[in-house]
Amino acid sequence: MKTYKLAAIPGDGIGTEVVAAGVAVLDALAARDGGFQFATDHYDWGGDYYLKHGRMMPEDGRDQIKNHDAILFGSAGHPDIPDHITLWGLRLAICQPFDQYANVRPTRVLPGITSPLRSVEDKELDWVIVRENSEGEYAGVGGRVHQGSPLEAATDVTMFTRAGVERIMRYAFKLAQSRPRKLLTVVTKSNAQRHGMVMWDEVAVEIAKEFPHVTWDKMLVDAMTMRMVIKPESIDTVVATNLHADILSDLAAALAGSLGIAPTANLNPEREFPSMFEPIHGSAFDIMGKGIANPVGTFWSAVMLLEHLGEANAAGRLMTAIERVTADPRYHTPDLGGEARTDEVTEAVIDAIRGSN
Ligand code: ATP
Ligand code: MG
Repeated sequence: MKTYKLAAIPGDGIGTEVVAAGVAVLDALAARDGGFQFATDHYDWGGDYYLKHGRMMPEDGRDQIKNHDAILFGSAGHPDIPDHITLWGLRLAICQPFDQYANVRPTRVLPGITSPLRSVEDKELDWVIVRENSEGEYAGVGGRVHQGSPLEAATDVTMFTRAGVERIMRYAFKLAQSRPRKLLTVVTKSNAQRHGMVMWDEVAVEIAKEFPHVTWDKMLVDAMTMRMVIKPESIDTVVATNLHADILSDLAAALAGSLGIAPTANLNPEREFPSMFEPIHGSAFDIMGKGIANPVGTFWSAVMLLEHLGEANAAGRLMTAIERVTADPRYHTPDLGGEARTDEVTEAVIDAIRGSN
């Protein structure tokens, strides 16, 4: 039997609740499948670790997880610690050195869930947003001078490398090509940002030549927000920068019914390092410890984890189980307007896995 080494990093807030649920579901799938199992290591890194040790993860943290097959991540964020410290100290401290440059975010309206776009039928909203995850606006370049004086100034420098843009563009075209509609929208802001964004446009034209079967178009990010609301059926695969796709994918998650449902894969497509799977929501302190966090975003992330491991059957079985459960309003958590609790949804998904053929 194949054993996958899984690193579970629940992090903060509801991350601990949803990752526990995710690990339970993955173990149930492995038991159902019989062909593989998980050896899971749990890491207590995050805000509480920071308050004790002055850092979000140990100095050799990355070495501890670099040989795992995959990482299941919860969320980093703590009410007593500034957000840029929790983000850079854990999530980005894993994503960037592990070169997880493709952040992939599927969006669909799952059965039983209502989009706030009342006109949308479930089949009309089926997107994958590919977010550049290694540079751009979040490259970390910049600085502050003259703090505390009237001359104070600060810069955040957006940096794109040609190699970085080419590899994310190629990833997105390839993904678009693998989907039934073979449709890609390249999102930039090249009318106002006339250096890096213009390079994005140029790279898109070049890479498109490698993918003659993909139909693609360009869109400015502001216009894209409108198109997502007004003509959702015209969109399939989307590629955008780190910042733009961050914002577009929160909008996408909301349009699909709840932030609690949306999954992410942070992929190192070359597989030199482990990839990381996480719900797109944050630590949600307003509901932490109440047992009502929606675990579906984590379950869907687990589907992507299984696909990455090559366990397509188990991935399909889990997605079917998730959809069977979301279709039943008894298993809707409060963010979906229901009353279900995290453990009830988790149990229902595990039951659906056990009962499936
Ligand atoms: P962070 O700073 O870690 O990103 P945040 O508070 O800015 O956290 P989220 O944690 O993403 O942002 O939460 C935004 C809102 O969505 C909150 O009101 C939260 O309760 C709700 N929410 C997020 N995830 C879930 C979930 N899994 N289940 C239910 N509600 C959720
Ligand atoms: Mg947030």
